Amino acid sequence: MIKAVIFDYGGTLAESKTPWDIVSEKAVDRLSIDDVDVKAIDFQNAVMDTVEWRRTIHMEGKEVDSHEFFNHALGILGHSTGRDITDELEMYVYESSETEWLADLETLLSSLSENYKLALLSNAWLEAPRQVLRDKGYGRWFDVMVCSYDIGIPKPDPRIFQHTLSLLDVEASEAVMIGDSIKADIKGAINAELKAVWVDNEGTGEWKGCTVRTISELPNLIRSI
Ligand SMILES: [Mg+2]
Repeated sequence: MIKAVIFDYGGTLAESKTPWDIVSEKAVDRLSIDDVDVKAIDFQNAVMDTVEWRRTIHMEGKEVDSHEFFNHALGILGHSTGRDITDELEMYVYESSETEWLADLETLLSSLSENYKLALLSNAWLEAPRQVLRDKGYGRWFDVMVCSYDIGIPKPDPRIFQHTLSLLDVEASEAVMIGDSIKADIKGAINAELKAVWVDNEGTGEWKGCTVRTISELPNLIRSI
């Protein structure tokens, strides 16, 4: 019997975009106060390289936090900075990001929360997914919100699923993972012995297991699992 529903964030509950050109302008202004002299375009390019670097870190089953993320970018430019400054840079990302929510999300979360514990499980190097959910007032529907940087381990590693299950206080067989990434969410969850439902946003039918086109189909589907 299903007792908990665990949601991925990006591509599942919302789409968030970061305008890195704007963030980079703010970041270099802030860094210049501390005599870290970099150009916005160089900072932005270093961030793009850092996004790629993070993918290689994920392949090693590790996650970075915002301090490591920005110091890797600054390291490319021959600089480094303290956590107080990287916390501010993280804030610029959060303030500048644009979030598009799934239609009828509140109705879905409120109805699911009547019958199940709800969790967020996001591969994130920063606090933004939790922060924007709280800002929107959706945080109240979630019993547990996990970001991979909390424990330094990303999906699809089974340990982050186990971490989330223990916070929810349910067994793997009592939980279903909902996500749009076959590798991170679906195969990760199944490998950790959870149930999984793939959100097929593009309608490609790439996954032959349990699938929905939109998450509004979830309540009926979860009842039948
Ligand atoms: Mg996703």
